[in-house]
Amino acid sequence: MSSILNSGIKLVRNVSRYNIGPGSLGELNSLLYGLRQKALESSMSSDVIFLIDRYFEGKIHTMNGLSFDKTDYFEFISVDKEPTTSNIDNLLEKLISLGYSNPAAIVGIGGGITMDTAKALSNMLTNGGSAANYQGWDLVKRPGIFKIGVPTISGTGAEATRTCVMTNPSTGLKLGMNSDYTVFDHVIMDSNLTATVPRNQYFYTGMDSYIHCVEVLNGSFRNSIGDAYSRETIELCRQVFSDGDMQSPTNREKLMVASYLGGCAVATSYVGLIHPLSAALSVVLGTHHCVGNCIVMGAMADYYPAAYQEFMDMVERNKVQIPSGICRNLDSKEFDALYEAAMMHEKPLTNALGVNFRSILTLDHVTSLFKKM
Ligand code: NAD
Ligand code: ZN
Repeated sequence: MSSILNSGIKLVRNVSRYNIGPGSLGELNSLLYGLRQKALESSMSSDVIFLIDRYFEGKIHTMNGLSFDKTDYFEFISVDKEPTTSNIDNLLEKLISLGYSNPAAIVGIGGGITMDTAKALSNMLTNGGSAANYQGWDLVKRPGIFKIGVPTISGTGAEATRTCVMTNPSTGLKLGMNSDYTVFDHVIMDSNLTATVPRNQYFYTGMDSYIHCVEVLNGSFRNSIGDAYSRETIELCRQVFSDGDMQSPTNREKLMVASYLGGCAVATSYVGLIHPLSAALSVVLGTHHCVGNCIVMGAMADYYPAAYQEFMDMVERNKVQIPSGICRNLDSKEFDALYEAAMMHEKPLTNALGVNFRSILTLDHVTSLFKKM
């Protein structure tokens, strides 16, 4: 393996504890009971902040016998837009003004948007300031509030990673708080929760774990544990998406595991060409992360030929719709903006194409790729 550049990531923090299996949401009550008791023993607030995907508004209080305290705080998170640093700042201000500055725990129940919002707020409550100050690597100085992640859709691996992705609306920078303090303290992976995900969305988000691992295994920055996680993630995705029913209970459980392992994989290495192009679609056109990756895959025949073919077969077999023509009517200014937004991601692009990636990814070439989308 002498030709393989080392990813340089040698010290890795994983989620401290997790519950896994259908029905495991029921464990949340006893977990919170312990945390509330501990807080009360130290004369601290035993309130818990719940950030919940808006889809579950009106449903959560009747799920799995969950019980809540009267003074707990609930925020139903809008999923129209992905998190921005200003959303996080506004939510932080609101929590502090309502007296929730030092809760016993923060629970994020939802997809990547909701889990990332929970991770960010947990860190912000103890570190203060503005979320934009922590976009980068190891800028978070203090552990956050005890954070619990409950994924309700599988694929991003946000439940496993050390980041929470946010866009800074004033600079266009889409970058997370990469920090050991961003890792969830506890994750509950209950595949019963993903039963209601719409088909197309299930596929788009599920494909994020496949794509993370395709990029990891085709890159030059490698990590031996990351490679092993990636191989298993891809194997699980193949099983889920080549079966007749990608949303059967067994396949939903497999995809939840793939998501977690894919998150662990990407945390030890880097993505490749697909994510920078998808991030550009997100910054310039507001395209959401997972559907954006699927749109980009359609233009990746020359870069990831085997994965491109396998992806197309999975689209066909599962009869899902990938939007097309989203760049059809863009002008040259917009193509320039897409180019700039993609080229910012130097590390993944180096991982995919080597240090001379700029000589391959010229403005004309990148524009031609976007025109295929
Ligand atoms: P999401 O939060 O964008 O939600 C997608 C859709 O699924 C929403 O409409 C939501 O309401 C719906 N949904 C979720 N659970 C549902 C359920 N059980 N039933 C019915 N509908 C349900 O989901 P995502 O694709 O998981 O997350 C994308 C976000 O994750 C992006 O903001 C992206 O930047 C981020 N991300 C983070 C990481 C990380 O490591 N932190 C990694 C990759 C992506
Ligand atoms: Zn991703």
